[in-house]
Amino acid sequence: MVRKIAILGSTGSIGRNALRVIDALGPDYKVVALTGHSNVELLAEQSRRFLPDFIGITDPSKAGELKERLGGAGGRILAGPESMTEIAALDDVDIVITAVVGAAGLEAVLEAAKKPKVLAIANKEPLVIAGELLTATAKENGATILPVDSEHSAIFQALQAGNADEVNKIILTASGGPFRKATAEQIEKVTVKEALAHPTWSMGPKITVDSATMMNKALEVIEAVWLFDTPVEKIDVLIHPESIIHSMVEFVDGSVIAQMSPPDMCLPIQYALTYPRRLEGISSHIDFGKMGSLTFEEPDRSIFRALDLGFEVARMGGSAPVVFNAANEAAVEEFLAGRIKFVKIVELIEHCLNIHDIKSKMSLDELLEADRWARGQVHERLRALERIG
Ligand code: NDP
Ligand code: MG
Repeated sequence: MVRKIAILGSTGSIGRNALRVIDALGPDYKVVALTGHSNVELLAEQSRRFLPDFIGITDPSKAGELKERLGGAGGRILAGPESMTEIAALDDVDIVITAVVGAAGLEAVLEAAKKPKVLAIANKEPLVIAGELLTATAKENGATILPVDSEHSAIFQALQAGNADEVNKIILTASGGPFRKATAEQIEKVTVKEALAHPTWSMGPKITVDSATMMNKALEVIEAVWLFDTPVEKIDVLIHPESIIHSMVEFVDGSVIAQMSPPDMCLPIQYALTYPRRLEGISSHIDFGKMGSLTFEEPDRSIFRALDLGFEVARMGGSAPVVFNAANEAAVEEFLAGRIKFVKIVELIEHCLNIHDIKSKMSLDELLEADRWARGQVHERLRALERIG
């Protein structure tokens, strides 16, 4: 049976890898919809190559250029952010790969969860900010959430070795990013270029900066809470610079199951598409004889303060993760634009959390309001700091 696939964010790092995986899987996997935001040239090229029925361009000002570039080839063009929800809602889609960056993907993934589809989730921010709503919606409507994030794919695979009540601990591994060995003084002077030079993974700019602050791992702790319905107390973070073990599960008898593979997102993407089967794919295999040593260390929580904040926010719940994520998105944008220092990112997140009154049991509108509030507070704070001078 042919599996019909929609990719939200096909022009990004995950989206491009997903297309490589689908291409290699052959005719049983068919792309029926793609979306991109600003990279019209690539979206047009992908559309000519994969001939989807629907092509979404979320930045509506680019729709004309897309139409021109396609010159009648490819499927129906949908423009604006709502193109993602329209595509996510299509009955004729079996698997939705969510590969957009940030909270922008929230409404679409919630829409996809209203039908009995497979949601292959790379876009972790919606799970962080609306984990309760998203998992409940999926459960109610028979949608299956499968992780694409490499750590969560690893945990998902390892969990198959035992029962849920036999899990003692989930050990999320982290590469430690480019500043694993940096001192507080060195971190002060980090440039955008340095933050974007990840030692083991090639990814989009936002998640690469998140890896450098370890915000990515903090977001992944919250992501794991919702994906695996697990208390945050059962989650540990361990630095593993080689990025070969993608995470581990320790069971009550002391047995630890680890998932290993070279650092390549094609494998977790493919597993989410072929689950529960495993198929030959394009990812390389480990050569243990040539691999060298695997090493582990504790994260430096005094330098990477985002990590403890993530655990705290997971415990607080309600609107705290929304503010945590939105403040980070706004601050990372400022950093990438060269307007703030690297260390300011976490300071701004802390500031927003400090002045926020946590609300619980929130509707989608309330979640979006808390998201807007935090982004506004980041800019407010930066203006205030500028005035002080
Ligand atoms: P990229 O920045 O490479 O790609 C982001 C994608 O989202 C692009 O298709 C981009 O379109 C689109 N996009 C950007 N802004 C918007 C918007 N406002 N509305 C709709 N679409 C938008 O990111 P990654 O592929 O690296 O990451 C995607 C998600 O996957 C993130 O949530 C990340 O945390 C997660 N992830 C990524 C991993 C990786 O290896 N890259 C690993 C694990 C998780 P365009 O380029 O056309 O502007
Ligand atoms: Mg990850």
